Formats: sequence, C-alpha cells, structure tokens
Amino acid sequence: MFDTLSDRLTATFKNLRGKGRLSEADIDATAREIRIALLEADVALPVVRAFIKQVKERALGAEVSKALNPAQQVVKIVNEELVGILGGETRRVRFAKNPPTVIMLAGLQGAGKTTLAGKLGRWLKAQGHTPLLVACDLQRPNAVNQLTVVAERAGVGIYAPEPGNGTGDPVKVARDSIEYARTKQYDVVVVDTAGRLGIDEEMMRQAADIRDAVRPDETLFVVDAMIGQDAVNTAEAFRDGVGFDGVVLTKLDGDARGGAALSVAHVTGRRIMFASNGEKLDDFDAFHPDRMASRILGMGDVLSLIEKAEQTFSRQEAEKMAEKLAKGPKEFTLDDFLSQMEQVRKMGSLSKLLGMMPGMGQIREQINSIDERDVDRTAAIIKSMTPAERTDPTIINGSRRARIARGSGVDVSAVKNLVERFFEARKMMSKMAQGGGMPGMPGMPG
Ligand code: GDP
Repeated sequence: MFDTLSDRLTATFKNLRGKGRLSEADIDATAREIRIALLEADVALPVVRAFIKQVKERALGAEVSKALNPAQQVVKIVNEELVGILGGETRRVRFAKNPPTVIMLAGLQGAGKTTLAGKLGRWLKAQGHTPLLVACDLQRPNAVNQLTVVAERAGVGIYAPEPGNGTGDPVKVARDSIEYARTKQYDVVVVDTAGRLGIDEEMMRQAADIRDAVRPDETLFVVDAMIGQDAVNTAEAFRDGVGFDGVVLTKLDGDARGGAALSVAHVTGRRIMFASNGEKLDDFDAFHPDRMASRILGMGDVLSLIEKAEQTFSRQEAEKMAEKLAKGPKEFTLDDFLSQMEQVRKMGSLSKLLGMMPGMGQIREQINSIDERDVDRTAAIIKSMTPAERTDPTIINGSRRARIARGSGVDVSAVKNLVERFFEARKMMSKMAQGGGMPGMPGMPG
C-alpha cells in the first residue's frame, strides 16, 4: 500500500539533496511534485490543497534548524503534516467503565465487516479481553454462518440466535446480546451489522436503530480502501446517517495508491483506528499515523516490526538462545536455525515483513519476488539431515550432501548453499551475542 506515493515522494526528496539552501522556486517545485504525487495516489483534492498549503507555508517560514539540512527539513515538515492528515495521535479503543464495552461495525456490504469482527475479536482476546461477536447482519445470506466460523477460528464467543434469511429482527438480536454478554461475562461486544451494495435509507435506518438499542461505546465505520474516492463519499454518508467514532480501512493489501485512506480521516474528522491488509485473521493492526507516515516516506515502520517480533518471540526463547550462544558459536545448530526460521515465518509473510523495513521501498520488486516456498525448501533440507549433521554441519561431506539433496528433492548446490548460509548466520549471531545484543533473526532465505 502507498507504494506509488512512497516512490514519488522519495524521488522528490532526492532532488533536494545536496542543496545548501532552498529558494522559493525550489520550494514551489517541490510542492508541485508532492501535489502530483498525492493526486496520483488518489488523495482527495481538498485534502491535497490543504496539505500543500501547510507544507509550503512552513517550508517558507522561519523554521531554520541547525541540525537539519534544507532537504531534511522539508522531509520533516512533510512527515509531520502527513501524520496530521492521518489523524495525529494513535486513537485507541475507549473501553466502557462498566462492561461490556460495545463496538458496533457499520459499512457497505463487502467492506469487510464480518472478517473484521473476527480480527477484532482475536486482537481483543490477545489483550486479555473476552469478546462476544454478535450477528446482526441478517440480510446477506450466509453472513451469520460466516461470523460463526470466524468467531470459532478466532476463539471468541458468538451470539447468533437468528438464521440469516432476512426475516429476523436485528435490533432485537443486538439488544438481547448485551444482556447475554452480561450474564456470560463477556467484556466486549462486537456487533456486526448489515450493509448494502450502495448507500440506502433502509440500511442507514436499521444501523441507526441498532445504535439506539445498544448505545455503542465505539461505532466503527469500515471502508474498503480499494473503492478509491468513493470512500470519502461513503464515509460522509455514514457520518451523517449513523455517525461513527473511528474508521477501519480494509484491503490495504490490494490498494497500491491508498490515497482514499489519507482522505477519509481528514474529510470526516474521525480518526483511523485499525487497518486490515489481508484475508487472514492476523492481517490486521491498530493504526498508528506516525508509523504510517514514516512508511509512506520510505523510512520504514521499524516500531511495528519490533512489536510483531515481540509478539512472536518469547523472552524465554530469546534468553535460551542467548545463553547458548554465550557458550560459543558451536552451540547454535541447524535445529536452532530451523526453529528460528519457523518463528520468523510465524510473524507473517516475508515480503510483508521486509516491506516494513526502512529503505526497502527501493528494492520493492526484489521483495515481491521473494519466494515464500524457499522457507519450505530450507526446512525440507534440514529435516533430511541426521541429528548428528544438524548438530555439527562440518561433517557434511560430498556423499552426505548428495544423500540430503536426494532426500529433500533439491540440487546438491542448494544443500551446499544452505550450509554456507548457516555458517554465516552463526558467525553473525555469535558476534552479536558477544556485543551483548539480542540474537538476530537469521534464516531469511535468498
Ligand atoms: P462484509 O459484507 O462487510 O461483512 O464483508 P466480508 O467480511 O464478508 O468481506 C468481503 C470480502 O473481502 C471477503 O471475501 C473477505 O475475505 C475480503 N476481505 C476482508 N478484509 C480484507 C482485507 O483486508 N484484504 C483482502 N484482500 N480481502 C479482505
């Protein structure tokens, strides 16, 4: 997401590099470039205008910094303005003082509400909550089933007393679910509501009735980032028809332009709270304007990466590994290598992970061509080795190599390559361990 915008801005800033001082003409030219970049990224025109105006004013103004060169100053200003447009500070969920906290989802059909309910359920559960998903989308055939499946997968509660054949009363379901949550000790209720393919009065009325019945602590407007500029119109219609407290952008994985996302928060005055970027339950995260801005500017999103790593690697495991390495590099075996690789993979797809790293924007094509199956291949090779070989790979000679290659269905050169990579990783890790740092994450294939 935001790839085009990111590429454009990076190119613009490159032009500024090396300039000792920026003339008004330089700033004009840069502003023009940024304007084109934003419009190409599908950002709404009023948002672009406001943005450019701010950047220009500030760049021309007296913000002289001794620490930054002129180009860096412009990047800093653009970054700060981007953060502002994306909503400023991270908007966290407001939990009710007296549970259950009620979160209502509203949006067009196909926006991703039902999928989101599951993701939200899992996310809340991971934070120690006991969420209940409530099926109030009784219009779309199969929505009730889908929510039931999603709840099961997320390991959270489900309240779905009505079949989804269009006859039930969603307002009653919503109202009853709160009582149900109270008696069963669920502390967050996530209400999935019906959407239509386009905005229509009937849908708005139903959503408003559900809202009045459950009085949500948070109403989230769910919008598909791929619908482009329509996102802004739809958001305005929902703001006026039902009202909402926060925005959830979905399908950011499919939208290389992403400008609609930049516009929705600004136009509606409601902040983006979550972003969805895939169909799997884990393809989801709280939205942090500062991190997103730094990603757009090609500065990477190291904080999110670290958070993901922290969720995946337990401290215990990290300490165990550090202890091993402290005893000497030989303690780190191919079994450890394999287990680390599998942990890295648990964090998500390699290309998504690498996309969060600074500077990776420039090598996006290579990233996209990373073959995730490489990890499987590496695992297969290691699993074809004997325990002795895994513990001490130096014993792997020509005939062993040939046997391993046969066993895992790869070329001999692939086995050789892997063992070399392993030794390199081990060298690097023991260096890091001596430096007192955390063990790294070797095993990135390719
Ligand atoms: P609802 O009608 O608003 O409940 O929408 P659904 O939750 O049924 O989602 C509609 C379609 O979009 C489904 O096929 C989902 O798998 C898909 N979907 C939802 N969120 C995402 C996302 O973040 N990325 C992608 N690629 N697909 C998504």
